[in-house]
Amino acid sequence: MLAVCVLRDQGCLVEGIVFSSPFFNLDTATRSARVLELTLHVVDFTADITALLEHPPHGFGQAMNPCIDCHAWMIRRAGEAVRARGWDFVATGEVLNQRPMSQNRRSLDQVAQDSGCADILVRPLSAQLLAPSQPEREGRIDRSRLLKLSGRSRQGQLALAAHYGIREYPTSAGGCLLTERMFCVKLQDLQTHEGLATPRDLERLKLGRHFRLPDGAKCIVGRNQAENAQLQAGLAADETLLRPLATPGPTVIVSAGATAADEERAAGVCAGYSDNREEPVRLLRVHGAERSERLVVPLTRETARDWLVVA
Ligand code: SF4
Repeated sequence: MLAVCVLRDQGCLVEGIVFSSPFFNLDTATRSARVLELTLHVVDFTADITALLEHPPHGFGQAMNPCIDCHAWMIRRAGEAVRARGWDFVATGEVLNQRPMSQNRRSLDQVAQDSGCADILVRPLSAQLLAPSQPEREGRIDRSRLLKLSGRSRQGQLALAAHYGIREYPTSAGGCLLTERMFCVKLQDLQTHEGLATPRDLERLKLGRHFRLPDGAKCIVGRNQAENAQLQAGLAADETLLRPLATPGPTVIVSAGATAADEERAAGVCAGYSDNREEPVRLLRVHGAERSERLVVPLTRETARDWLVVA
């Protein structure tokens, strides 16, 4: 937001670009763009980030967050948009040394180099501490009106926000879901078994309890009505849905190709997470066009816990 204001201050026309994927939330960018009355372009980054998860040239941060490569590829995509539209440069809100690993001088240089946009990349908030970019050298941007913010303290940014009258801005939160270790346990399990190629599977990592059954099938158990509805809506033709009929309980999805034994276990888990854990539970089973009903003896949650991907 501040980078936009600094550039607008010297007459630049600015538009925003934000990247969507199952791991990032667009809410903050959307809200900020609204506050700034900024046109915002949304680019689907799912294929880029999953490719980086498979082979991150600069490795991961503390979890499965390939931050340096992620930054570089986002800037690469922004650069493609800039060149395609005949615009002048890409600007980011990065601040030198704001994050010790991904925004130190070496990382910023690396990102610039890997993005293929080193010549047109401007970091307005720290520009005076960095080598002049081409638009600065050519005088298309007045370098003297760019800033020299640096370090982890956000005092300078807060003062600037006050100067521009920005009262609504995002808090300085951590990173995306890829920085969350518990989430990454589920991600790694998916990568090992089904792979990361299906966006639906990636989206589902945010839903329900995930079980990896002994023969290898994945079983996802909805935790509330909203999750049950989402799981049901996303059911693929080769997957199996289970849910209790007369008893409140979870919707369960069993992955394609599950063995009969794994499906039996999933049915036991479904019954075990219903409100009736004592007696056999009548379950609905849906697989493609087939629908059937049967009574299932609930498995205890202690038994099911052994198969939980994240306990
Ligand atoms: S925190 Fe997530 S979105 Fe941000 S750079 Fe790292 S991997 Fe990319």
